[in-house]
Amino acid sequence: MSNFTIKEVLVEDGALRHSLTNQILQRLPGIPVQATKGVRSKASSNEMDMGKDTLHLVFYKGEFFKPCPGTREYMCCGYQILNVATNCPLNCSYCILQSYFNQPNLRVFVNLEEELKRVLHVIDSEPDRIFRVGTGEFTDSLAVDPITCWSDLLLPAFSKRKNVVLELKTKTTNIERVLDSKYRDRIIVSWSLNSPYIAAREEHGAASLKNRLKAARQCQSEGFVLGFHFDPLIPHPQWKQEYLKSLELMDKYIDPKRIIWISMGSFRYMPGLKQIIRRRHPKTCVLDGEFITGLDGKMRYFKPIRTDLYGFMRENMEKWHRDLGLYLCMESDDVWQMSMGWSPGSSAGLRGYLDRRVVEFFG
Ligand code: SF4
Repeated sequence: MSNFTIKEVLVEDGALRHSLTNQILQRLPGIPVQATKGVRSKASSNEMDMGKDTLHLVFYKGEFFKPCPGTREYMCCGYQILNVATNCPLNCSYCILQSYFNQPNLRVFVNLEEELKRVLHVIDSEPDRIFRVGTGEFTDSLAVDPITCWSDLLLPAFSKRKNVVLELKTKTTNIERVLDSKYRDRIIVSWSLNSPYIAAREEHGAASLKNRLKAARQCQSEGFVLGFHFDPLIPHPQWKQEYLKSLELMDKYIDPKRIIWISMGSFRYMPGLKQIIRRRHPKTCVLDGEFITGLDGKMRYFKPIRTDLYGFMRENMEKWHRDLGLYLCMESDDVWQMSMGWSPGSSAGLRGYLDRRVVEFFG
């Protein structure tokens, strides 16, 4: 498993009778377990850690399936989030989750199995629509898979359907259960990538870039379609050379023809996150550089910096392979035009572009 440990398990009242709770507890022998009534508001350990070493098993009453929170001002790809957990045992300095949730701890929703039936019903009720679904928005998709075994449940459920793909997005090498599964169809295993410099300095607890790509190669060689996400791109000393190193590693390990898409986004954050990052990661470089307030209220790099980042990456990735399904996450039409040389024109256009990739790869 990646570089983190669970030191304590909290089990909420409503989660006690669930079979997933029992299975998870059996996989964590010797870890202290405490029953809790309702929500515990403070992290059990050092609050600076946000309770990342505390696993909280929760009967979740909120939404399990919802659209990725895009905004009208930028083009959004229409991704759907399958909400299996909140918070993450990894500790990236730039992580937006640090200011997103008002509850600490790694909260895993043990009623996933029942709720999944409802989610699949929604998917089945719109057979002509393509659902691109991911679990990696509010947590890392595979970081705790060895404990939760989400892939045992999710891969067969999604693989059987013809109008959906499930993307598992990670910065870990926890691919054992995915590889053990016999299901491959309509499953995308994706890695978030950055430069080796940012990966080493800012993505605490994540696998090294090389190990992520080795894991990706293994998944690819065993029949999985891959995705990659360069998000957040961050200008830093020698960033061009550094990002080229990442592309060289991709070339070494990955067959570009079996990549469904590579997204790019630049670092953006709600203003309140800045203080939290400064407090939790005093040595970080992610706040260096100049930011402006975007149309959605988030802080972003100036447009010329963003177009420079995307344009450089696009040019060099396209030298590797012309057809990588490159797209930008939450950007405007003019930034698309300037950096990618084209634009899908609208959120609907971007959805159509990615849906066509799905059809091309999975039929
Ligand atoms: S892996 Fe993703 S969710 Fe986890 S800390 Fe890093 S940015 Fe946040």
